[in-house]
Amino acid sequence: MTSSGENLTATAERERLTAALREAVDAGLPASISDLSHLVRIPSVSWAAFDDSRVAQSAEAVAALARGLEVFEQVTVERAPIGDGGELGQPAVLATRAARNGRPTILLYAHHDVQPPGRDEDWRSAPYEPTVRGDRLYGRGAADDKAGVMAHVSAIRALVEVLGRDFDLGISLFIEGEEESGSRSFANFLELHRERLAADVIVVADSDNWDETTPALTVGLRGNVTMRVTVTTLGHASHSGMFGGAVPDAAMAAIRLLSTLWNEDGSVAVDGLTADAAEYPDYPESQLREEAALLDGVSPIGDGEILSRIWSKPAITVTGIDAPSVANASNTLAPSISVKLSARVAPGQPAAEARAALEEHLATHVPFGARVVVDDVDEGDGFLVDTSGWAVAEAERAMADAWGRRPVEMGVGGSIPFIAELVERFPSAQILVTGVEDPDSRAHSPNESLHLGVFRRAILTEALLLARLDARS
Ligand SMILES: [Zn+2]
Repeated sequence: MTSSGENLTATAERERLTAALREAVDAGLPASISDLSHLVRIPSVSWAAFDDSRVAQSAEAVAALARGLEVFEQVTVERAPIGDGGELGQPAVLATRAARNGRPTILLYAHHDVQPPGRDEDWRSAPYEPTVRGDRLYGRGAADDKAGVMAHVSAIRALVEVLGRDFDLGISLFIEGEEESGSRSFANFLELHRERLAADVIVVADSDNWDETTPALTVGLRGNVTMRVTVTTLGHASHSGMFGGAVPDAAMAAIRLLSTLWNEDGSVAVDGLTADAAEYPDYPESQLREEAALLDGVSPIGDGEILSRIWSKPAITVTGIDAPSVANASNTLAPSISVKLSARVAPGQPAAEARAALEEHLATHVPFGARVVVDDVDEGDGFLVDTSGWAVAEAERAMADAWGRRPVEMGVGGSIPFIAELVERFPSAQILVTGVEDPDSRAHSPNESLHLGVFRRAILTEALLLARLDARS
């Protein structure tokens, strides 16, 4: 056969495979939604104040789904220690099968724990009662990230439907149980299970799409630094009528200090916090206004292209203040005020460097010689994907075929610190940050939801990727 004949055969074979997988994903969708609904009914909040037996129950439910695939050599539920201590992290599911015949191994990550639901009255339907309205499935975890779990499971189901169970691709399914509470045992987990987790390609299905009809590959994530800043000016409280005007109260000193963190336009004014440069899709101010619910007459902050402010530049937010409440306010000079600062760090800048810059700024801008103590510091590195690898090209092709649209390479303003740990532990693996969310998913908020069309296309994308990696020598 001529080489163009071979190409024709290869193209025809590829099209046949794509069509077969599409059919299998469509046929399996009702079961995928039903299994997802079952997971959503388990309130697997991984925060300390919540019942962790529900996280264990959720891990068992995920393990049962993994076993049901009958493609893994080993399916276990594992807990790793936190730090050097005896306390264990929340249970994760690890399911593995070895690659054969020189085929690659792919690690599929998602997490089965969820954020707390918040107030029931803010939900249109109960948070743990999965409910379909229109094109969307509502419920806590319906998107973040139980849909990520089910995208992996459903993609493998479609693969089995089309190729049978005797395929050569190696697969490690890793479903974490404490992502929403800071992945505290993650580093130890990677160390303990490094052989079962080792892979050529890592898919992290815990991010966003551009919109409900346009896929995205996440190629940049900001890091984060949070800290408590306590400003103290007086040894004790005093009547504001007696000394007000002659000595600074802590609120005044804290407000003056905080105001030095931003320029007049709201951009960050801290020396040593860097910015990254990238290419940005068009994102008009009107869209920002609508998506962020920015009130009429209130201006956006920062400078440069809007997406550069969210994806590539630092941001600083005051997320909490401990001060006398309005209800308890008396005519008193407050001696001490605590503030929680949350900073987003540009991808490419180590979080530790950003933290040092922030601490230096606070120390050198404190007014009136007030005492400033920084503690309760937490940090996570951001991440920039190397987009030159073959896995990125395969993933973008799979997205284009599944969605009928080229994917956007996007940044994400939020942080997924564990990705930096994955990259550090498995430096030769190519990392693909995908997801099942869209801008209306409202992860972490009331009325979280999954767009069912996005769900179907995300499953097909991954099924195509698995099948093509299985054919890759
Ligand atoms: Zn998540």
